[in-house]
Amino acid sequence: DVILHNDQFIREEELVISKEDRGYQFGDGIYEVIRVYEGNMFTAKEHIDRFYASAEKIKIVIPYTKDVFHKLMYDLVEKNEINNGQVYVQITRGASIRQHHFPIDAPPVLIGYTKTVERPVELMEAGVRGTFIEDIRWLRCDIKSLNLLGNVLAKQEAYDKGFYEAILHRGEVVTEGSSTNMYGIKDGVVFTHPTDNLILPGITRSVILDLCQEAGIQVQETAFTKTQALEMDEFFLSSTTAEVMPIIEIDGQTIGDGTPGVLTKKLQKAFAEKLNLGVKA
Ligand code: PMP
Repeated sequence: DVILHNDQFIREEELVISKEDRGYQFGDGIYEVIRVYEGNMFTAKEHIDRFYASAEKIKIVIPYTKDVFHKLMYDLVEKNEINNGQVYVQITRGASIRQHHFPIDAPPVLIGYTKTVERPVELMEAGVRGTFIEDIRWLRCDIKSLNLLGNVLAKQEAYDKGFYEAILHRGEVVTEGSSTNMYGIKDGVVFTHPTDNLILPGITRSVILDLCQEAGIQVQETAFTKTQALEMDEFFLSSTTAEVMPIIEIDGQTIGDGTPGVLTKKLQKAFAEKLNLGVKA
């Protein structure tokens, strides 16, 4: 495989990361995951904008213009001949003697690589089960930080209990998933947490909200409680890899009739159409 190291394409065996890389020691960096469908990056611009926005929020200066960065991502996909898959890219505050405050002259360290991933079609058809887990993360969940301990612990707890995803809540209020955004549908209205400091502004989330608009489905970016979640007619989550994923059960309680809901399926269909799969030569 060809991987990206700063603006250089190298073989994986050639990669050297310092023991004092701040990503490694402090989780001091940010990342993105961009989906590739049939060789094309999906919503690349939006992911790149969020990557730069996350970097700016933690005062990392990416030493490339967005256009140059976009081209690096494009070339990475090309060189690895990725058809269906994803790009993972991260940037850290660089390597320097270990001390908490920012190093003065360490350049940031960028790593990018690709992998092949198929769409989770069977799960999307059947739906998945979620479990409520207290959201113990920090108060800047809008930053796509490498610090994922709160997310990792929540996902593991869900996984250990046999659930697909943790449905995080702060007190009574549902925020998002450990690596996904959450939605409930009640009486034809899609509810989802507003994009503030408590959730990641998902790119898939913004695609879905656009699709709702196009389909004339009402949306309310209003937080809902755990109790309200259980009373929703439909429930689903979204992410770059999970797309529109129905949640049919939460902690053993069925949502609606326990199968993927009508509007959820409509959104799945609209999302799939947006991907233009099989249309491009
Ligand atoms: N929330 C969190 C905490 C995430 O890690 C992710 C996945 N990156 C999402 C939401 C979904 O975001 P996106 O649709 O951009 O993948």
